[in-house]
This record gives sequence, C-alpha cells and structure tokens, in this order.
Amino acid sequence: MSTPQAQPATPHFANYINGEWVTSSKTFESRNPANTNEVVAVYSKGSAADVEKAAAAAAAALPGWASTPGPGRGAILFKTADILEKKFDQIAAEMTREEGKTLPEAKGELQRAINIFRYFGGEGSRMDGVMVPSERARVHVFAVRKPIGVVGLITPWNFPVAIPAWKMAPALIAGNTIIVKPASVAPLCAWRIVEALHEAGAPKGVVNFVAGSGGEIGAALVNAKPVKAISFTGSNDVGHWIHQEASKRRLRIQLEMGGKNPTIVLGDADLKMAVENVVNAAFFSTGQKCTATSRAIVEDSIYDKFVEATVERTKKLKVGDGMQPGVEIGPCVDEGQMNTVLKYIEIGRKESGEPKCGGRRLTENGLDKGYFVEPTVFADVKPEHTIAREEIFGPVLAIIRAKDFEDAMKIANDTPYGLSSSIQTSNLSKMFDYVYRAEAGLLTINLPSAGVEYQLPFGGTKDSSFGPKEQGPAALDFYSDYKTVYIKY
Ligand code: NAP
Repeated sequence: MSTPQAQPATPHFANYINGEWVTSSKTFESRNPANTNEVVAVYSKGSAADVEKAAAAAAAALPGWASTPGPGRGAILFKTADILEKKFDQIAAEMTREEGKTLPEAKGELQRAINIFRYFGGEGSRMDGVMVPSERARVHVFAVRKPIGVVGLITPWNFPVAIPAWKMAPALIAGNTIIVKPASVAPLCAWRIVEALHEAGAPKGVVNFVAGSGGEIGAALVNAKPVKAISFTGSNDVGHWIHQEASKRRLRIQLEMGGKNPTIVLGDADLKMAVENVVNAAFFSTGQKCTATSRAIVEDSIYDKFVEATVERTKKLKVGDGMQPGVEIGPCVDEGQMNTVLKYIEIGRKESGEPKCGGRRLTENGLDKGYFVEPTVFADVKPEHTIAREEIFGPVLAIIRAKDFEDAMKIANDTPYGLSSSIQTSNLSKMFDYVYRAEAGLLTINLPSAGVEYQLPFGGTKDSSFGPKEQGPAALDFYSDYKTVYIKY
C-alpha cells in the first residue's frame, strides 16, 4: 500500500499498524516553534485500542522476523539508511521546522541516524555470542543471542530522529518486533524512519507506529500483554512511572532520563577552548540536549577571566529561526518548555542575582511568533541554589566558583543525576583522577559535555538512567537474551 501523504499545505501522517497506514478521526498537529503560525503536520491520534492492535500484529510477526537470518534483517536496515539519505534535505528541514534546532544541527543528527542504521545493519552479520571451552571432555558449549520479543519504544522530542533510530535499529537487528511511540510535539522524523522501513520491505507487523497522548499510549504499551520490554527516553517523572508500572509485569526496561551536567574548568585549562566548549554545550540546540552543560564549576584562579570571556562569547550567539543561515540558537520547543525556562530564570534572579547576560524572552526582529529565550549566564551561583540543582532543559548556564580541583569534584558529584560530565584541564594526572571519580555515564575531557558517537555505549548513572546502556555493541544487551547450549558428542 502506498504511503498516504496529503497536500503539502497540511500534510496528514497516519499511524502504521501491521503494515498498513491507519488514519484516525481524531488528530493533533505540530507547529513550528520559531513561527507558531505555521502548522507543520497533522497526525492521526492513536488510542489504546490502536496499541493493542499493534501489539497483536507485532506478536504475530515475531516468529518470522526472529527466524530471518541476521544478514537479511541487516539488508533492510541498510536499505532504510539509503532511503533516509535520499530524503536527507527534506527530513532535516522538517526537523528544524518541527523541533526548532538549527538546520546544520538537524543535518548532523540525521546523518547520525543514518550511520546508526548502517552500524546495526552490519551487526546482523556479526551478532556475537559466547563460545568458550567446556570443563568436560567431548562437550561443546556456546551461547547464542535471541530476541526478547515485542518491544515498546517511547521517545522524546529533543533528538527526534537519532533517538528513535538508536532504539529501532538495534531492536530490529536483534530480531525483535517493535511499536514506536514518538513525542507528540515532534513525531515527524520517527514517522519518516517508519516510512523508510516500510519502503525498504520490513515485513508487516515487524514495525508499528502509534502517535498520540503519552499518558494513554504509554500506559497501553506498558500494559499490552505481548510487550516484553520497554525502552524509554524522557523525563524522570515519566521514567519513574514506567519503572513502577512495568515492574508489576516484570518487563525488561531501559530508562534514559534527565541530567544536571557539570563542566569543571581548572586553572590550567586552555581558556579560549574551555569557553568555547562550555558555550557550545550549554547553548547549542537551545540547551535542550540531555547531555548539555548546565553547571560550569570553575577553579578560583581562572574564575573571573572565565566568567568575562563566557559572557562576551554568549552575547555574540545569534538567536533566530534555525532555517536561517548563520543562526546558532533556535527556539525552545514549545510554550511549556519556554515558560519553564523563564520560570527558572526568575528563580535564578531571586537566589543568585541578576544574570550576567540574557535573562528574557526575545520578541524583537520578527521573533515574536516563536518561543525564543536569550542565552542566559548566571555567575556566583551557589551549589545549593535551585538553578544549580534542578534540570532546566533550556539555554541557561549557572557558573559556580570552586576553591580547587577537590572542591570542584565534590560540587560536580553532588547531584542525584549522573548523565554526562566534562573537565577542561591540561593536567594528565587530574584527567585520570576525574575519569575514575566522576559520577556520570558519559565523560568528556577538553570537549563539550554534549556530542556523543553512536559506536560507543551511551547512558547515565544514578537517577539519570536505569537498565543496560544504549548504542554501540552494548545496545544488544538490552534487546537480546542468551540461550546457552551444552552438546555431548
Ligand atoms: P517526557 O515528557 O517524559 O516525554 C517523553 C516521552 O514519553 C514522550 O513520547 C511522551 O509522550 C511520553 N510519555 C508521556 N507521559 C507518559 C506516560 N505516562 N507513559 C508513557 N509515556 C509517556 O520527556 P520530554 O519532555 O519529551 O523530553 C525531555 C526530557 O528527556 C528531559 O528530562 C531530558 O533530559 C530527557 N532526555 C534524556 C535523554 C537521555 O538519553 N538520558 C535523551 C534525551 C532527553 P507525549 O509527548 O505525548 O507526552
């Protein structure tokens, strides 16, 4: 069946269940956060009943897909990557119009999603197991990977193509069948991946897509009998709820959630590079990366110079519609997110004083139709202040003074979160001290805290994450199980 895409003015995107595009009388729309007059797309609003149908279809498709040889599954993933590549400019522009990140950022993210499909496509021909000698004579032992079954994938809006890709590709290559539930503010990129999988020849029922309210679809996914595992990326509140509900059914779960990521800047750091790395990690993608730096913890000896240079650099950032060339910072994704950011800026004003730059919504020069907030730097923030403790998920940086390396490490680790963390230093010994003591799943040194690669394990520790890591070879630990075999010959 061909893909239903209506007129360019208001394209309507259907759900995808058992190899069919299924429209619903109920719909919801997405709008461009840089210009809310623009409706980007209309979606069929899925229901709990749609999830049940999708789960039944995925269960029916499971034996066929699980017994398809890995290289055959891989071939479909390779073809999916090729199809996404052919639509590269279109999908990147759709991402910018729907999520708000700049076009170069959207292109970078889309390229990463394509790389992920190729990486896991290749995994179909590798798919390692375990083979070791037996203790017993004339006994051969080995363990092979097997799929878990039907998997529910729930994704957030901030990486609308990369996160669906890094869940869908490993789930599929391991032989699972899937139901994808994208974030409601930006479902289009995930829909494009599903469209590409459909065109690439994924058998019916192997891939299913149900958009709609997180509460309804999410609960239905967690409770659908055939679903054996849930991989979720999003907020801690929802992750906590999934943990509780899914545990009742003993589902396998993987939760990637929030962060309050620090960058430590030591006195021996290359100041220019440190400022560039912190500004990049704090403000690019409008600070809406889960790995963004929201706390710069700066050693006393370099503190004043760092604050001055960071404020100077931040003031130069060009904010605007991400489709415009030269724009570096786009809008917040929606009104709710913008209001959260503005609320935290007011809390910051009360607790930490007037910001050194930024601190307000931008409405001049044609920005009044979007959700733009000035990149905002607070200095002299105390570790106990709210903006140093709670995730803001926007363009707000809190700079904290530390006496020395030990003090900086203590402040950096004093958070319930543990997603990413960074240090800027030229001292090799302190680098290693930091590597072994930093309480986070992703560490960078002399690089921004955000910006990871797909071929390595990804994920946090402490309250930021639960379950096996995503991406790289580690991804298969969640999406597969072992079957261990002993043969006497
Ligand atoms: P969110 O509100 O938790 O939503 C994430 C997804 O969960 C969406 O698809 C949402 O659907 C769905 N959902 C909402 N309520 C649900 C429920 N009761 N049951 C099941 N699913 C439900 O998070 P977000 O605002 O999209 O994303 C921002 C958060 O994600 C931040 O905290 C950020 O740090 C985190 N994040 C973490 C990582 C990581 O790898 N650690 C990566 C990216 C983002 P609707 O959209 O329909 O509500």
